[in-house]
Amino acid sequence: SEFDPARSLATGTYWMPFTANRRVRKDPQSRLIVSAKGSYCHTQDGSALFDTLSGLWCTPLGHGHPRIVAALQEQAQTLDYCTGFQMTNPATVRLADRIAALAPEELDHVFFTNSGSEAVDTALKIALGYHRLRGEAGRFRMIGRERGYHGVGFGGLSVGGIVPNRKMFAAGMLNGVDHLRHTHDPAGAAFSRGQPAEGADRADDLERLVGLHDAGTIGAVIVEPVQGSTGVIVPPLGYLHRLRDICTRHGILLIFDEVITGFGRLGAPFAAQRFGVVPDMITFAKAVTNGVVPMGGVLVRHDIYETFMTGPENAIEFAHGYTYSGHPLAAAVGNAVLDIVEDEDLFTRALSLEPVLEEAVHHLDRAPGILDIRNIGLAAAIDIEPDPRAPGARGLEIFDLGLKNNLLLRCTGDTVSLAPPFISTPQELRDMVGILGRLIATVTR
Ligand code: PMP
Repeated sequence: SEFDPARSLATGTYWMPFTANRRVRKDPQSRLIVSAKGSYCHTQDGSALFDTLSGLWCTPLGHGHPRIVAALQEQAQTLDYCTGFQMTNPATVRLADRIAALAPEELDHVFFTNSGSEAVDTALKIALGYHRLRGEAGRFRMIGRERGYHGVGFGGLSVGGIVPNRKMFAAGMLNGVDHLRHTHDPAGAAFSRGQPAEGADRADDLERLVGLHDAGTIGAVIVEPVQGSTGVIVPPLGYLHRLRDICTRHGILLIFDEVITGFGRLGAPFAAQRFGVVPDMITFAKAVTNGVVPMGGVLVRHDIYETFMTGPENAIEFAHGYTYSGHPLAAAVGNAVLDIVEDEDLFTRALSLEPVLEEAVHHLDRAPGILDIRNIGLAAAIDIEPDPRAPGARGLEIFDLGLKNNLLLRCTGDTVSLAPPFISTPQELRDMVGILGRLIATVTR
């Protein structure tokens, strides 16, 4: 008999990542996306869902872009794979040049990975290797931030600030990891637009850790400039500058994890430029290929790269790499993405849509059942008052209601995050928030 994906999803072998699997089984038909075009995903049961989070923060140019499809096909016909160890290919080298040209000037080398998790683990390894090569092997400590999300590798999980995730895999955590206190002040800064005015001094928490451990033992600090996965938590004005200053003063490397903020989400190529703070490394993934093929990477400061190049001629400089590092298909897509961004000026478009999204979401400020709303760039998040008996249940309910109301949503706990495609129209953004506001009212009534 013919394969029925809905039936198989309900009873078959597929283990869905990071999901309430049992819930999916109840309504499998609505969970199968069979095609997508532009800002809409089409499900097996015939709905067209507006893609409110651009996939998982990864498809800002929308789905099915003909220039991306053409680039992928052409590359597949020309060169579908080549090893990245000792060999490479023109598409990959070109993409590295172009990404470095987009980044702050000091960051001029790119190491490619296949995902954000791999990019984070790679950056942490580069930090350790850099200090060791400079005779500072004692700088083994890594510092993350509460509520930070840095993927699921053991490195990223260790520096990540989501406590239940770390606890589940406690036996595999890196040694010597600490977390900066979170920056969000729900009492003082609720419903603030863009960056909260107060709170730069929370960066001084890094001085507390330096005092506790001795600066000479700390290798790197890794932060998301805007915390994405835990609900668009925007840094207070001046906070990142202050972190930068403290790191510089103590010889600690500063890594920005820009897996979400990179490639235009904040209306600039990277958050580093939006906030005017230059880190020592930037991790990226997701939008670099518009989600079409997996790719991530690390942008590295010039002299960090050079440190690895000073040994004997035939030495292996950095014993780290992936079978698919710099995959030609991913690189071809990355180049097509940057062509489209340039030709259609899409980072500027994201910036010009920021006030539209801001007005729309803050129209819901202090509505019943809403605790906080945050926004920056083309991203926003709404905290819903949890059901005291079942935290997170309202988020799941809103997700399900979204499916019936033409919205593909992203709810983490009782927080709804929004990061629509750059190609959205102002009316689509207003409609999205209008529908969402009604769904929130329904579940919190
Ligand atoms: N870092 C950040 C900031 C992320 O948002 C994510 C994914 N949401 C990751 C790392 C991990 O990326 P991936 O899922 O591609 O491994």
